[in-house]
Amino acid sequence: MASQSTLAKRIQTLAPSPTLALNALAKDLKQKGIPVINLTTGEPDFQTPTHISTAAKKAIDDGHTFYSNPQGVLELRNAIAKTFGNNGLFYTPEEIIVGTGSKQLLYVAFQVLCERGDEVIIPLPTWSSYVEQVQLTGAKVKTVKLMPPFKLTASDVQKAITPKTKVLLLTSPNNPTGAVIDEKEVKKIAKIALAHNIWVFSDEIYEKIIYGTTHVSIASLQKKMQSQTIIFNGVSKAYSMTGWRIGYAAGPKHVIKAMASLQSQIVSHAATFSQIAAIEALEGDPKPVAKMVKTFGERREKGLKAFAKIQNISVTPPEGAFYFFIDIRKVLGKKYNTATDWCAALLKEEQVALVPGEAFLYPGFVRMTFASSTENVLEAIERIGKFVNRAVT
Ligand code: PLP
Repeated sequence: MASQSTLAKRIQTLAPSPTLALNALAKDLKQKGIPVINLTTGEPDFQTPTHISTAAKKAIDDGHTFYSNPQGVLELRNAIAKTFGNNGLFYTPEEIIVGTGSKQLLYVAFQVLCERGDEVIIPLPTWSSYVEQVQLTGAKVKTVKLMPPFKLTASDVQKAITPKTKVLLLTSPNNPTGAVIDEKEVKKIAKIALAHNIWVFSDEIYEKIIYGTTHVSIASLQKKMQSQTIIFNGVSKAYSMTGWRIGYAAGPKHVIKAMASLQSQIVSHAATFSQIAAIEALEGDPKPVAKMVKTFGERREKGLKAFAKIQNISVTPPEGAFYFFIDIRKVLGKKYNTATDWCAALLKEEQVALVPGEAFLYPGFVRMTFASSTENVLEAIERIGKFVNRAVT
């Protein structure tokens, strides 16, 4: 009889996305009539801006409903190249690939560059998909544990490098911490990457969602660094288009070509009309994005003020993205021993769904998204306050 052991070994150890699983559980409870405040997933709560949806409808009516170039529709790759150009980064359309979200492109890139015997440096806490994707290649994950305020430094990177290091992963602004790597550290990290001839995967998906600081792409520092970097970005977060599944990556032509070959054999390409709509996202009216980012910033301020009133838990102010990474270490070891247990009890008792730090390889913390209405965010923090006070008394 077919059994678990008939599954390939690499799949037997694969963990499904914990965030998506918790999101499904929270939605399930909500459907059963339980008034859960679901702050698990990282997706904006705004409608996709109307001008983008209108462009998608027109694209369908105009017949953009067929297979297209596996590397991505050329007009979109031109628009992406222009967007990079505005940030001082120069890529040709041959150096750009469009995929079904940046998550899929990260998978393809790890497959193209990594194999058994290689090491990939991943700072902790981390978005779990990187770890699973690296392991699927046979390469080893070399973690670097960061402490609050979770700012990666060149010295952290230097210590983690071995002769086997193939890729250094940078996520700035970061999920789950919101930390942005300082420009002077980016420069020092680039020096190390160049000296050791290692690839840098720079996940810049939260680049536009930033609060009073600047994001510097490592690839923008010098031509040689650009030739060793793959940038990952997409329209999901900044344009509130998570379900459209459009991400893009930029890097040296030979790597992008290999990624396109692999992509052509698995998903062919991202939905053609979604790609046409993404052109409108990148080239159309930028005001809706500015408005969303402003709103995230206001919620961040209000949320931080509300958290400051709760004793025994703390939050490092995020510099980007839309998450609070809450330090609950002081309240563990009393009623609840782990962040997972704490989150399960919070969901049961206060109907607030958060993601435990274990999902980011970082116990003792929990992640709460503030990409939800201000009302939800503040109500959730109030309930967290009540829960914390009950748990320590
Ligand atoms: N990178 C990071 C750091 C993320 O948080 C996410 C989504 O949560 C992604 C990539 C994937 O985004 P998408 O596949 O929608 O482009």
